[in-house]
Amino acid sequence: MDHSVEILAIEDVTHNVRRYRFEKPAGYSFKPGQATDVSLDEEGWRGKKHPFTFTALTDDQQLEFTIKSYFNTGGDGVTEHLYGYTPGRRLIIRDVWGTITYRGPGVFIAGGAGVTPFIAILRDLHHRRKLAGHALVVSNRTGAGGALGVAYVARSTPDGHTLLFVPALAYSVLPLMQSNVGYTDKSFAPICQTFENQMALIVKPDSPFKTARDIAEAARARPDGRAAARRASGRCTIHRAQPRAGRPGVDAARSGD
Ligand SMILES: Cc1cc2nc3c(=O)[nH]c(=O)nc-3n(C[C@H](O)[C@H](O)[C@H](O)COP(=O)(O)OP(=O)(O)OC[C@H]3O[C@@H](n4cnc5c(N)ncnc54)[C@H](O)[C@@H]3O)c2cc1C
Repeated sequence: MDHSVEILAIEDVTHNVRRYRFEKPAGYSFKPGQATDVSLDEEGWRGKKHPFTFTALTDDQQLEFTIKSYFNTGGDGVTEHLYGYTPGRRLIIRDVWGTITYRGPGVFIAGGAGVTPFIAILRDLHHRRKLAGHALVVSNRTGAGGALGVAYVARSTPDGHTLLFVPALAYSVLPLMQSNVGYTDKSFAPICQTFENQMALIVKPDSPFKTARDIAEAARARPDGRAAARRASGRCTIHRAQPRAGRPGVDAARSGD
């Protein structure tokens, strides 16, 4: 069943996350962790349904969403359009659904917008004074090719609760490339390897290069350098390809440059 509800308050949580409090239809209820399909109650948007999770307490007088907005959707994205909303605008919410519900104490791991069910679940536990024995592991610290997040963990108290889950390069290669990242590979005690990945050198099909040696030799022979592309700072590609001081090498272009 569709309910048109008025937004009553909007509050910034971060630069791209906002808390939206809105009317609760009579008799409407949900379990912590559940979501509903939402549309903007506006011409052209009513048919676009996107799921969002309730983050208020179940017995609050109002409902609440905590929504991250994506600003790269060219104006088509519901969260980008919603970001322009002010109190008084309306949403359409529907029946509740969702299978993420509380099943007992433990450690919860969440990332990105996936944290929202745990906001609701942990708020409810806190409200009922039953929070002891639960832990939420969540941290998104992006930037500087992963260095900001790694440095944060390096600075943290080694209390057994702050763990770093990281591709090896962010902690092993970045400190070699930059002197100021704030950590070295000795700043951490590895627990386990969780995955391995392969790296590939890629050229156009008609490239004269068939092996990595071909590329290295061509780079040495050309004092004016070669062009290459890489994903981001600290990745293997740039580490291998960047010219050393005084030697001809490869001009490396970041994909974002
Ligand atoms: C059960 C459930 C509950 C949810 N609860 C919440 C919540 O409480 N709060 C919250 O903030 N979010 C929540 N979400 C996520 C939320 O539904 C989406 O973020 C939202 O629908 C995005 O819509 P949009 O139109 O703004 O962006 P979209 O157009 O969906 O784009 C979002 C991002 O994904 C990228 N993208 C889109 N398509 C692709 C593709 N094919 N390949 C690669 N990248 C792509 C876009 O570039 C953009 O960065 C929930 C999702 C589910 C399934």
